[in-house]
Amino acid sequence: MHQDKHLYLNGQWVNGEGLTRQIINPATEEILTTIKEASKEQAEDAVTYAAQAFQQTDWAVNKEKRIKVLKTAAGLLEESADEVARLETLNTGKPIREAILDIYDSAACLRYYADLMSQAEFWKKEMEDGTVSEVRKEPIGVCSLIVPWNFPLLLGMWKIAPALAAGNTVIYKPSEITPVTALKFTEILEKSGVPAGVFNLVLGEGDPIGQTLVSSEKVDKVSFTGGSETGRKINQECAGSFKRVSLELGGKSPLIVLEDADIKLAAEWAIFGSFFNQGEVCVASSRLLVHENIYEEFIAELLEKVKNLKIGDPLKEETDFGPVISEQHLRKIEDYIKIGKAEGAECLYGGERVGSKGLYITPVIFSNVNQNMRIVQEEIFGPVVTIQTFNTEQEAIELANGTRFGLAAGVLSADAEKADRIASQIKAGTIWINSYHTPYVEAPWGGYKQSGIGRELGPQGLDGFMETKHINKKEHLEPLNWYTFKN
Ligand code: NDP
Repeated sequence: MHQDKHLYLNGQWVNGEGLTRQIINPATEEILTTIKEASKEQAEDAVTYAAQAFQQTDWAVNKEKRIKVLKTAAGLLEESADEVARLETLNTGKPIREAILDIYDSAACLRYYADLMSQAEFWKKEMEDGTVSEVRKEPIGVCSLIVPWNFPLLLGMWKIAPALAAGNTVIYKPSEITPVTALKFTEILEKSGVPAGVFNLVLGEGDPIGQTLVSSEKVDKVSFTGGSETGRKINQECAGSFKRVSLELGGKSPLIVLEDADIKLAAEWAIFGSFFNQGEVCVASSRLLVHENIYEEFIAELLEKVKNLKIGDPLKEETDFGPVISEQHLRKIEDYIKIGKAEGAECLYGGERVGSKGLYITPVIFSNVNQNMRIVQEEIFGPVVTIQTFNTEQEAIELANGTRFGLAAGVLSADAEKADRIASQIKAGTIWINSYHTPYVEAPWGGYKQSGIGRELGPQGLDGFMETKHINKKEHLEPLNWYTFKN
């Protein structure tokens, strides 16, 4: 890792002139590294460099160069996958098996958008009057890409890969607490031949660094993943100048377990949906909706399996469940556990800190909840799941749709047709039937309702970084024959 210079501006590694921050390993609470963050002026400079690179280099028009850089970066990332995965685990606490998936998914994302760009064909038609109507796609310009701490590299790549493939220039800001793989990936992009100013890495807090990257007049598009409240502020800021914006926000996703589901398998998928990455996943199935006839049996299976999860050192291959991201976040989770109990919910399991070192907490299962409780309505973004029962399909659908969010959902059933019927009535951007969590780079990702605006991944993810231009072309100027004129 770059030991002393932590910003990448206009093709140069430079010293941050803002705050100094200690980056903590959540598994040990020891200092992993110390970062010199950007000053507000350096964030402004980054935007200026990106704007200059957009105007003055051939990046926007040289598709071959872009494809080559992205494919080279994908190869280099795969070559160093073990090292990068280890860094991601040290910084986030996510189990190493999960980190490895993130790194290969990131490389696949780079390759997918390089391929999509190389195959891109735009619509063209000769009209009745001889006009050739051509729809072209162009890069938007300077893009600020802002991501949270739960999947630092992967969520970054969902923006970096399509933004660069489309020909934009970018400023990338990961969360202030998880900058480590962003530094490593920037080295990889540099080695891959990205031209100066095309990709700029700016580290620092949401206020003022993120805000500067959102409000600058030179920024043409903001692509943001994070909490709904931050997303609302960003949306309001962008509205002032009609700046392009896409928002991937929070969720409170339901997993519906139908009466005919295999209970043992359903319990395992529910654990995967709810507690993968310690539940710090935007699409986590944080609300389990279980048919009342199988409730008792399902709970028994779920509890037995949860109690047997291997909680511990995330660097160990066999670990199922690591620490949560920070002391502050752990306290937020504990506050929600208290809120749930005060609201009258029954905590069937979990919520205990584990060991004396590291930010570990046992996964939490709440029963006896109702739809109005805060633990059912608000995103906790940690290992806390609520269980409700239903009797009819209609009841399950109403409970599933009964929050302000609409990011994802799951349906587990032996009857895939019935599950599909339910899926079609759920207001969510991604629905898994008899599975959960896997994102496919070829397919769109994003939210209904207050879970976001726009889509990432798939062709839609590339479209989000392009403007559409319609050119009407005639070879010669012909008489118009429209006006009658006085003489
Ligand atoms: P935040 O909204 O607090 O932060 C997200 C990013 O935005 C961070 O880089 C943060 O910087 C930055 N930021 C904060 N304030 C501003 C601002 N005013 N202007 C510009 N940037 C700002 O979210 P968390 O980091 O707490 O992440 C958790 C949230 O992310 C959850 O709600 C989760 O659901 C959502 N999420 C959504 C996903 C999706 O695909 N829909 C995927 C993953 C997560 P810093 O932290 O450095 O201060």
